[in-house]
Amino acid sequence: MGGSDADPHYGEAEEASGMAIRLSPGTTAEHTIDIKVELYRSVLWSLAASGLARAMGRHNAGQGGILSFHRIYRPKPQEFGFQALSVAPDSFRRVVQTLIDRDYCFLTMSALAERLRNPEPPPGKFVCLTFDDGFVDNYSEAFAICRELGVPMAVYLVSGFVRREFPMWGIGLEEAIVANDALEFTWEGKELKLDARTMSRKRQAYLTVASLLVLAQPRNIERLCAELGARYGIDFMALSDRNALTPAMIREMHASGLVEFGAHSVRHAYLSRLEDSEARWEITQSKRDCETLIGAEIRHFAYPYGDSGSVGTREAAICRELGFLTAVTTESNTIFPSDRDRLLNLPRLTYNGYFQNTPLLDLLLSGTLPRLRRGLRG
Ligand SMILES: [Zn+2]
Repeated sequence: MGGSDADPHYGEAEEASGMAIRLSPGTTAEHTIDIKVELYRSVLWSLAASGLARAMGRHNAGQGGILSFHRIYRPKPQEFGFQALSVAPDSFRRVVQTLIDRDYCFLTMSALAERLRNPEPPPGKFVCLTFDDGFVDNYSEAFAICRELGVPMAVYLVSGFVRREFPMWGIGLEEAIVANDALEFTWEGKELKLDARTMSRKRQAYLTVASLLVLAQPRNIERLCAELGARYGIDFMALSDRNALTPAMIREMHASGLVEFGAHSVRHAYLSRLEDSEARWEITQSKRDCETLIGAEIRHFAYPYGDSGSVGTREAAICRELGFLTAVTTESNTIFPSDRDRLLNLPRLTYNGYFQNTPLLDLLLSGTLPRLRRGLRG
């Protein structure tokens, strides 16, 4: 989400479908989203039934792909921010089991970098499982399933969330809206009031504020959370305690040898909108924070939001300087040998929770959705 592409779903929802779910001012959030989701679901089923994925896979599947997840969690209906970003535990298990049954090789991000550098990589398809932000269910659900099935995973931590230094604003915002009939707050010096009397209006209010916060300077997000905390009695740090990984969980995951941690900035900042020194600080400090947490070098980075508006040559140059082996975006694509030349701008395949009960996995790994997306954009 971000820029003109801003997706209010606290993440990269549109990447998964290959089509944007976004709102124009004045539309009814609930209806727009529900209708679009239903439409996309039927498009995905038709695409799969048409055999297009198999045909397109010949040219678009590449050597494999980096799957991108956030939460392995079943969100409640009022958890507006997490529908797209949450995949139910049983769906996730099905995805991993399907990949195992199809003989995919599961790689860590370090192994992927090695493989891409190898001029004669081993045959067969690979997949990397990546998780962004550091939600607690990455431990309680994803890690439990990956450990049981014996496959590696990568988790990109927002160090300010883990260290309880920066609010997980999406969760607190949602709580304030769910509990109140209106949301009142100041933004850029103006007093704003959003109607939140019905579920539909609550969802609209959430999307309105979230799309402001995605692009906002981190200090303005902190200020707004402090205001919402005071007005509505939201304890943002208690929310982090319930929803973010703890240092003990992180250490246990690291010690298992199955989880490779990466950095994902300190404050989940939309990096391209920050001054040079601040963008550099976000990347450098999150690397340091994560290294302190796990007691080992951090060699992988995920750009927050990760769309083309949020990351550019400046961010990649900082990652190169800091010695990162890989950095991932949310550009939607499978992985080809030529990606060895852009290890700090690797594309991923977002597994969108809205479409978890469709043939999404095939449509992503065959490169069908990424290809259609590029085609649709000309
Ligand atoms: Zn993120």
